Amino acid sequence: MLNKILSQADTIAIGGHVRPDGDCVGSCMAMYCYIKENYKDKKVTVYLEEIPRPFEFLEGTESICHEIPEDKTYDLFICQDCGDKQRLGFAAPLFETAAHTFCIDHHISNESFAEENYVVPDASSTSELVYELFDKEKVSLSTAEALYLGIVHDTGVFQFSCAAPSTFRMAAELLEKGVDAPKLIRDTYYVKSYAQNQILARALMESILFLDGKGIVSSIRKSTMEFYGVTPKELDGIVNHLRNTRGVKVAVFMYELETNVYKVSMRSDDDVDVSKIARYYGGGGHKKAAGLTMAGTHYDIINNLSEQIELQLGGSL
Ligand code: AMP
Ligand code: MN
Ligand code: MN
Repeated sequence: MLNKILSQADTIAIGGHVRPDGDCVGSCMAMYCYIKENYKDKKVTVYLEEIPRPFEFLEGTESICHEIPEDKTYDLFICQDCGDKQRLGFAAPLFETAAHTFCIDHHISNESFAEENYVVPDASSTSELVYELFDKEKVSLSTAEALYLGIVHDTGVFQFSCAAPSTFRMAAELLEKGVDAPKLIRDTYYVKSYAQNQILARALMESILFLDGKGIVSSIRKSTMEFYGVTPKELDGIVNHLRNTRGVKVAVFMYELETNVYKVSMRSDDDVDVSKIARYYGGGGHKKAAGLTMAGTHYDIINNLSEQIELQLGGSL
């Protein structure tokens, strides 16, 4: 499939979602390295917003473009880990003007908006789908590292239910390519700055249970982020800590993007499909991990979300 799609293009742009996470950066850089190494006559460029600093060790990240050149068009735009066009952010015009488009994604909310689509909602990560498209013999250590980063981050280090036997098999094959898994996991997933740990502690300390302990919520104001000198992309992972509270079925973490506008992250277990709630408010994601942007005070937001969560919990409350 990939060979056929690439055969119609000399110039290729790769893009992913706004505020790129491990799977987005990993899958995009893997595709970039794979094309660069195995299709030497093609010109490939990655367009992503600023990536988290711990991911900068990946091959090729120094050449990521953060803005689009004027009048530039591509033969092919490959859109990865992105459920809709708007989520491409600044790179969306390149998608619109490309001669051909291809989307590789695992968001349940993805409505196959590209010309060619490889969308598998049950897949652990976009990185796993990207790996399936590759000729395994041609995967280098650089490509393997990027893919490993992607699966580690979207499976919470192989802990979430989306980690399937195929994910572990893929991880084993990537280890055989020489990936230093303990170092990669520690450096990119667990190690946090002192300020990040402080803000995590604050989020946990100020969290509130609702719906009789079945929900937990915490929010961080912009002024608090400024006080600790922490940027939005450094708040990743806090929602997972909230979710690990006994009895909790839905965890909600939000941080203020601008006055009374919040980025909301939700995590759940089997009883609640948070992607439905996210979509209801214009966001998206997966059954057990979804996000949205919402206007209002954090009280308004939690009142709205709580109502939707309660509807799904129904009789089990
Ligand atoms: P997050 O809570 O930001 O870690 O996101 C959880 C999942 O939901 C990820 O797969 C995101 O790509 C997706 N997601 C987050 N925010 C949005 C949004 N505003 N619209 C669509 N999907 C989102
Ligand atoms: Mn993602
Ligand atoms: Mn993903």
